[in-house]
Amino acid sequence: MNYDVIIIGAGPGGIFSAYELVNGNKNLKIAVFEKGNSLDKRKCPIDGKKVKSCIKCPTCAIMSGFGGAGAFSDGKYNITNQFGGTLYEHIGKTEAIDLMKYVDSINLKYGGEGTKLYSTANTAIKKKCFENDLHLLDAQVRHLGTDINYVVLENIYNELKDKVEFRFRTEITSVRKIDGGFEVEAGDEAYTCEKCIISVGRSGSKWMEKVCGELDIPTMSNRVDIGVRVELPAEVFSHLTDELYESKIVYRTKQFEDLVRTFCMNPHGAVVNENTNGIVTVNGHSYEDPKMHTNNTNFALLVSKHFSEPFKDSNGYGESIARLSNMLGGGVIVQRFGDLTRGRRSNEQRIAESYVVPTLAATPGDLSLVIPKRILDGIIEMIYALDKIAPGTANDDTLLYGVEVKFYNMEVEIDSDLQTKHKGLYVIGDGSGVTHSLSHASASGVYVARHILGK
Ligand SMILES: Cc1cc2nc3c(=O)[nH]c(=O)nc-3n(C[C@H](O)[C@H](O)[C@H](O)COP(=O)(O)OP(=O)(O)OC[C@H]3O[C@@H](n4cnc5c(N)ncnc54)[C@H](O)[C@@H]3O)c2cc1C
Repeated sequence: MNYDVIIIGAGPGGIFSAYELVNGNKNLKIAVFEKGNSLDKRKCPIDGKKVKSCIKCPTCAIMSGFGGAGAFSDGKYNITNQFGGTLYEHIGKTEAIDLMKYVDSINLKYGGEGTKLYSTANTAIKKKCFENDLHLLDAQVRHLGTDINYVVLENIYNELKDKVEFRFRTEITSVRKIDGGFEVEAGDEAYTCEKCIISVGRSGSKWMEKVCGELDIPTMSNRVDIGVRVELPAEVFSHLTDELYESKIVYRTKQFEDLVRTFCMNPHGAVVNENTNGIVTVNGHSYEDPKMHTNNTNFALLVSKHFSEPFKDSNGYGESIARLSNMLGGGVIVQRFGDLTRGRRSNEQRIAESYVVPTLAATPGDLSLVIPKRILDGIIEMIYALDKIAPGTANDDTLLYGVEVKFYNMEVEIDSDLQTKHKGLYVIGDGSGVTHSLSHASASGVYVARHILGK
């Protein structure tokens, strides 16, 4: 065998697997194959001047490379089983929380010390939410911020680089079962290993499906979340963000009894483009350093859609909606809430006159031509509900960017060791469809490493 362990993907799942393996057994020969660049070479060409919007690079610098999709993220590590994935269903609730706390301690050790851990415990905001039929989910959240998150990744990379063989810009095309292990192919080259950890994240979703098909590993259809990114003056949510940083609030709509939830809240943050398999959607982040703060807070409002027979392709549904916005707006569309409720599109002039200055150069347009009515009605209802706990949310100038789509991988059939039916082949992180967050993905990486180490 060329290696004891091959890890495919250098996102949080892959990094934490490598970290734990190296620390558990220095004699292991480990290789990490990553289709993107090393951290220092990850550069999105959008500079706001020459390149204003996504030019659809073959490998997206935001989604791929050392650090994975999380590298330029807000670095919010949520310690909770209430959202961020269902890892606890495989490994148990206590183990899942313990691993997330362990990941937190490693992040602190490698540069995150001094960052704040927020908690929903004993907050009066929960009661205020209840009074308005809104539900605040319990969590602790470590906010590293985009800047410190980068430093932590840099430090972990420096720690690992001489102990693990990192191969960047190397896309694994296939995985084959061989006697006593696995063979992975990268272009014309093939490498063998005893154990293989697949941690390819959301950007590897299509590839993961193909590999599962080839290795006859069962998969189940997952949900897709569709919605908008809301941007408003930071003061509107400051009483929530100062205390909790991020609040995950759920609302059940009166009209359809659909659940709408807040997601990925970024106080004083910026709205950004995201490119998944060539489709441009919207996301957000913020920096820990006050010098990098904007005057706005942004967060997503999302509605989950599950499909049952005969339609199984939830991601395909989400992609079609995102494509529609890309077709109409050339990318992401932005609309004032006041324009949306008046049934008219936003245009350059209305956006320019808005009191909320957009942090992303998106195309002014009409989201009602893109987002299905049922979902959009739910989002509008939720904005009015949020207005009761954060007055100003439903102001005319509140900006809505669309569409935000959270794609989830097909759920891969894995056991309580996160192992497929082929012993020695593990599927972890967002690529497994089981996790959807930095903390859960990282925890799953530590978990399989310990399993391989026989702990
Ligand atoms: C802008 C943004 C902000 C976010 N903010 C947060 C946040 O604040 N908090 C939070 O909890 N989550 C956040 N997320 C989600 C979080 O980043 C992911 O949940 C997390 O990165 C998943 O980790 P992973 O290791 O499973 O996958 P990824 O991070 O997606 O890493 C997978 C890696 O595998 C590589 N890969 C894929 N296929 C192949 C292949 N065939 N061969 C070789 N390499 C391959 C990819 O290039 C990628 O680098 C954010 C995501 C984005 C895009």
